[in-house]
Amino acid sequence: MVTDQESAGSQLPILKTNPRFIFFTDFDGTITQQDSNDFMIEEFGVGPAHRKLVFDDILHGRRTFRDGFEELLDGVKLPWEKCIAALLENITLDEGFREFYTFAHANNIPVVVLSGGMEPIIRALLGHLLGQEEASTLPILSNDVGSRLGKTLEDEGGWKIIYRDDSSFGHDKSLAIRPYAALPDGKRPVLFYAGDGVSDLSAAKETDLLFAKAGKDLVTYCEKENVPYTTFQDFSEILATVKDIVSGETSVHEVAKLKI
Ligand SMILES: [Mg+2]
Repeated sequence: MVTDQESAGSQLPILKTNPRFIFFTDFDGTITQQDSNDFMIEEFGVGPAHRKLVFDDILHGRRTFRDGFEELLDGVKLPWEKCIAALLENITLDEGFREFYTFAHANNIPVVVLSGGMEPIIRALLGHLLGQEEASTLPILSNDVGSRLGKTLEDEGGWKIIYRDDSSFGHDKSLAIRPYAALPDGKRPVLFYAGDGVSDLSAAKETDLLFAKAGKDLVTYCEKENVPYTTFQDFSEILATVKDIVSGETSVHEVAKLKI
């Protein structure tokens, strides 16, 4: 298993195979069709209307992701294992992701998951949807889960999110990307990022090409902040674009200009 520390460490182990490209990606709502946290909040917590209000506040800078997201998750009292079981039943893989992942693997393009969600959920879903080997080897940098004082994860209201860092994002995704972006010409791979929502705001400005899911909050943010991006519906579109870039048919700059 590649640990967080190894994948984020100063040795930049992702460079071991000298990749020309690195693909950073969000997990919830990007690799999966539904967002597992939104699902828990809407089904077992405060419900969809309140979630949207809080996410709107985050999107427009009235609240931090850290505070808003934690408050929403605190409304989910269901014991942890029951949450995982419900997610395994309801969350599905993006239709094009498996083929994309196979291509990336065969073409020495490391795929690195940067998530505002909780690692045990991500590993459980990846194992279920993609395969146990992929779930244990894909580098995942994310938040975690912990038990509340005097409770266990399996008690009602027994768990809470444990943020990865002290930033206002809870997990500042730019921190994982910047060491690669700062490499000198000739050593610096081309960097991609794919995402869909408010957990991606810290990563949106960091890579050479940003794929933002059509119709989702990240597109609203990019428009508001004038961040270059291209949209996608599912990973089959991302795969087609990445293939064209890898073969030299087009460039990240050309694609970012198109804003399809
Ligand atoms: Mg997401």
